[in-house]
Amino acid sequence: MEARHCHQRGEKGDVYPEHDEDHAGTRQTHEESSKDDVRNNGQKTELHANRNNNATTPSDTNIQKDITNKSISLEDFTAALVPYKSVIDISGVPFILEPFRCTLCHQPTSLAPTTKFSQRICDICRIALDADAPLRFLHDIVGKVYAFWLTLRREELCDRIERIDLPGMRTYFGIIEGIPGNKTTLPAITNVRVYDEAGMSLASHALSTEQRGLLEEVLLTVNQCHISLLVLAPLLEKLMYADVDSPVLQVGEYRYQPKHESCYSHCIHIFTLKDGRHFVVSFTDRQLGWYPLIVPYAEYLNLRVKIESVPSMYGLGYVHTETAAALGEPDLISEDERGSSGILQRERWLKVADEVVRRWEEWAKKEE
Ligand SMILES: [Zn+2]
Repeated sequence: MEARHCHQRGEKGDVYPEHDEDHAGTRQTHEESSKDDVRNNGQKTELHANRNNNATTPSDTNIQKDITNKSISLEDFTAALVPYKSVIDISGVPFILEPFRCTLCHQPTSLAPTTKFSQRICDICRIALDADAPLRFLHDIVGKVYAFWLTLRREELCDRIERIDLPGMRTYFGIIEGIPGNKTTLPAITNVRVYDEAGMSLASHALSTEQRGLLEEVLLTVNQCHISLLVLAPLLEKLMYADVDSPVLQVGEYRYQPKHESCYSHCIHIFTLKDGRHFVVSFTDRQLGWYPLIVPYAEYLNLRVKIESVPSMYGLGYVHTETAAALGEPDLISEDERGSSGILQRERWLKVADEVVRRWEEWAKKEE
């Protein structure tokens, strides 16, 4: 079966220096591209990164002083990204710069940035939720589980996450996989470099607290789709099935090929309500630049899923069981999976899954 999960790769289109007109419109999907194509930076980056995790990374000081200079060459850009397993492009996560969005419909809201996630909905959606108890249940509980998941990610973080500012380029972020247990923290990011809408001028954009929070959500969810299924299964089982008043009939684990230029396999949850409706819930879509946490299934299918791909649907806990079964059998895991789901990682995330309900209860007590 498909064992890879979503890796954020540098988009092909994004490796071009910003003003390089010659390359405009030549984006190519992962499937179409060749491994030998030097412009397919993401793929090369990952291939190299898997072999070369200890390589040095560009230092901020070297880069910042060149801010007004011309873009670096494509070769230098490619070389600079080699150490990273995954690369996030700031332009691929536009919601960071426009943070006041309804968590359900993604339309702008006038809510204060400090508003709790579960209350961050627009007036139209609020009225809809007031008349829809099952969706209200789902919205409230999913908002809490998401906040808990981010806390868990911070507590378990061992990857090194670095900002990458190259001459004449907008900000990128690179992820170097760490060793479980060697705790790291996110870098303090107060600004990002972005181009204006016309693509003519590069400027440093100061991030508000809310914008920093959203950027951190992106960084905390990179490469985590598979792990979110694994770790959250026991918790979702408790929250969705144990309560007789729960409107949720079934939670499924779903793996598919997304309509996304730098991700070729992604997984999400599908919630089936007792009234027959299906909703996609994704705790890791923000890494892909997709904002909403809950989307009606038909809409998600239309927007996000490649029609030529055949999605795989499993019951809740499938990934957990699969991972536990593969614990002592490294050969079951493909080469590009080894980094993020190698033996150490699998042991560690299974352990986190074992204690996830207890940690949820402790977290929930503090939140009240
Ligand atoms: Zn809304």
